[in-house]
Amino acid sequence: MTKPLTVLAAVLRAHGAHCGCTGLCGAEHASNLCGAQHSGMERPLLAAPQFPHASDHENAEASADELRPWCWDCWRKARERERARIHDQRRREMEAGQLGLFDLGQFDVEQGAAA
Ligand SMILES: [Zn+2]
Ligand SMILES: [Zn+2]
Repeated sequence: MTKPLTVLAAVLRAHGAHCGCTGLCGAEHASNLCGAQHSGMERPLLAAPQFPHASDHENAEASADELRPWCWDCWRKARERERARIHDQRRREMEAGQLGLFDLGQFDVEQGAAA
């Protein structure tokens, strides 16, 4: 009887047993691919979405064909970058939504009631 494949083993088999990060982590990998075969300190690679989501909840719900091998280092950084991007985007949206208030020039006095 053969042991059923773990998700990680299936991903490694499908995409190669090396980190498939192409720079989403922010590093410039030689030959555009990280290619690490473990996560350092003998820790194995992990299977995670090709394009990291900001929340672990979304990452956990990624479908199997979205998964790629990642080394922890790349994955952590890539996920942080995605979080920062979303954070930045929300902040900009909020600022854009408040521009009208600031344009009135009396935000402090009216506490925004004029809107
Ligand atoms: Zn990597
Ligand atoms: Zn990387």
